[in-house]
Parts: sequence; structure tokens; C-alpha cells
Amino acid sequence: MEANPNWLAPCGLYCGVCGIMYATRDDNPKFAEKLATVYNLPVEEIHCAGCLAEGEEVFAYCRVCPIKSCVSTRGYEGCNECDDWPCESIEKFPMPVGKKVIMRAVPHWREVGTEQWVADEEARYVCPSCGAKLFRGAKRCRQCKEPVDAD
Ligand SMILES: [Zn+2]
Repeated sequence: MEANPNWLAPCGLYCGVCGIMYATRDDNPKFAEKLATVYNLPVEEIHCAGCLAEGEEVFAYCRVCPIKSCVSTRGYEGCNECDDWPCESIEKFPMPVGKKVIMRAVPHWREVGTEQWVADEEARYVCPSCGAKLFRGAKRCRQCKEPVDAD
């Protein structure tokens, strides 16, 4: 599968398994409302075309992400190329699940390369009970309602 280039978040939080992306693509107002509560934002902000999309198309928090600016300044594709990782921006990452995933995903990305990293992230977020796609951080499968550990 060819990864959408806008989804290759430099921090290692691959956009293809992000809840905001699912809410955007599914056009599911109830799910969007729930995420708006989790992220403490108005529901109009629950949309994204991927971390590397243009301006307002990017989710509000990711639009102003210091990790993204840092990687761009250094001319890297992502933190996988950086010898200073994990730096202070990673240490201070505001979402605990996000930070946990970053700490897992970046070394793996570095080891296997971009194509395999994307394939592995896509494969990882699948419900063990019913096979439905999960979003990163999900506590429960949206399809079969079984509890899941999606990190
Ligand atoms: Zn399920």
C-alpha cells in the first residue's frame, strides 16, 4: 500500500490510525463530538487531512506542533533521522498515549524504514476480536465494543 505522504507525521504518530482522521473520513458527528470532549476543542476543529497537509487542513494542535517545525528546520523526514531524539519536545509531549506511542514507534521507524513502519502501524491497530480498524488510544472497539489496548 502506498502511504499518503501527508500522513507521515514526523513525530512518529502515523496519521492513518489517528482518531481525528477516522472522524474526518467517516463523517461521524457522534464520534467527532466524543473526540472534541477528549481534546477539549469545539467539534468544528475535529478534522484533519494529515500532519503534512496545508494550513487549516491540519488538526489544530498538530498545526502548531514544535516537533514538526524542528524536523522541518533540520531538513529531516522525521524524528527517526535525528541523533538528538528523544529531546525535550518529546519529553514534554502533552498527551500520555501519544508519548508512549512515540517512544515505541520512532525506534521502529528508524530500524525498518518508512514503508514498513507505515505497514506495521496499519496492521497494529486492528481489533483482535472482530478485525475492525482501531484508532490510536482507543479503549474499546467501535464495532464490537470489546475493550482494547490500542497504543
Ligand atoms: Zn472489535
